[in-house]
Amino acid sequence: MKRFDAIVIGAGPSGMMAAIQASKHGSVCIIERCLSPGKKLLLTGGGRCNITANFSVKDFLKGVTRNPSFLFSSLYQFSSEDSINFFKENNVELITEKLGAVFPESNKAETIRHCFVTLLQQNHISINHGYVDSVKTLDGGTFEIHIKKEKSETSIECTSLIVSTGGKSYPQTGSDGTGFTLAQNFGHTIENLEPGLTSFNSDSFAWGHCKGISIQNVNITLKKLNKAFTGDFLFTNNGISGPVVLNASLESFEEEDVEIDFLPSLSIGQWKKSVSSFREKGSELVLSKWLKKFLPKRVTDTMIENVDFPLDRTGAVFSKEEERSIFNQIKKQTITNMRKNEIGHAMITLGGVNVKEINPKTMESKLVKNLFFAGEIIDVSGKTGGYNLQIALTTGFVAGQLGNQ
Ligand SMILES: Cc1cc2nc3c(=O)[nH]c(=O)nc-3n(C[C@H](O)[C@H](O)[C@H](O)COP(=O)(O)OP(=O)(O)OC[C@H]3O[C@@H](n4cnc5c(N)ncnc54)[C@H](O)[C@@H]3O)c2cc1C
Repeated sequence: MKRFDAIVIGAGPSGMMAAIQASKHGSVCIIERCLSPGKKLLLTGGGRCNITANFSVKDFLKGVTRNPSFLFSSLYQFSSEDSINFFKENNVELITEKLGAVFPESNKAETIRHCFVTLLQQNHISINHGYVDSVKTLDGGTFEIHIKKEKSETSIECTSLIVSTGGKSYPQTGSDGTGFTLAQNFGHTIENLEPGLTSFNSDSFAWGHCKGISIQNVNITLKKLNKAFTGDFLFTNNGISGPVVLNASLESFEEEDVEIDFLPSLSIGQWKKSVSSFREKGSELVLSKWLKKFLPKRVTDTMIENVDFPLDRTGAVFSKEEERSIFNQIKKQTITNMRKNEIGHAMITLGGVNVKEINPKTMESKLVKNLFFAGEIIDVSGKTGGYNLQIALTTGFVAGQLGNQ
């Protein structure tokens, strides 16, 4: 049986980073089920790859929504600044855009993948194409990895094992959740798996014809959880999306009633002033035309239809009660029974290996010696904007030290 000092299961960003680091301590092999490494990486940032969020450790942690304190020590070992330097040292120019989002200057995720693949080659790290379906612990504490290939199967032995198999989302990129079963077989607890960074849908969604319309700086409140979020908003065919919704989807829930304030900057005073000028215009201006100064016309027309007013209602006959109804349509629009998109279509998987069972300084399992975890398989996640790739790079970097700090 072939033997390596370390084996990494999964060639995503966390696994590739872990393998590059581990190669400084001995022989390394990556086992990857897809024909090429970093399949999901290529999809990131709409193909541009938002590789990190350019913030100090303290500010970065504010964007980590699940188990931020677990990352504290590892971020001090490999921060977003270290990621930026890592890519620069390896000839990848980066640019920082709004909200600290960092992209390769080429605007191509392939640039980041190519950088990793080159480093794997330079460090003599082999990639074994196959699917790991089980791992055995041998007497003496080494691991035997069983690999299924298209027409054969094989086993490889290693001293240290890094599991970086990702989550359960976008299974076509290779991350189908088998890593969770491997971790469970070692006695690890898997925290409830849920979709994260995804849009919301509702069977009774009545705004489908507004699909594609985006509105900046919208407030949404998850009513049952009583949690509010602000950011850019997008209507989809059967629900709502955009950064504000993606970030709200990092909360844990089955079904939510979502209250939307489309114009948080509109105060009651400003509204009253505008309404009185509408009334003064009398019959010269109709409701539908007046309202479009606030929001896109298709959206305000839908609001008028929602409350059953004629679109050509004039200022002259615009009653107090109608005024209140329209105000509520803009500021307190409620869409009930919204659910997150299914996990296969979500950008990340919430949940994963319980962080209490992993040493936060080394990413080593507290249950099994020389077993390490890296990336999305761990129950840590962050907002949209480069946080999750940075979490993959940070935990990969630390796991790749194989406990040798
Ligand atoms: C569409 C999309 C866009 C995204 N955009 C961004 C973004 O711009 N910025 C950001 O920060 N995050 C983004 N993310 C999230 C980010 O891609 C993930 O958090 C990140 O890829 C996780 O890295 P990982 O190495 O842990 O797992 P993965 O990238 O999922 O890699 C895991 C690897 O393990 C392999 N594997 C799994 N099981 C086995 C097995 N049993 N045997 C062998 N191999 C196995 C898989 O084939 C896969 O290659 C996006 C996600 C999606 C889906």
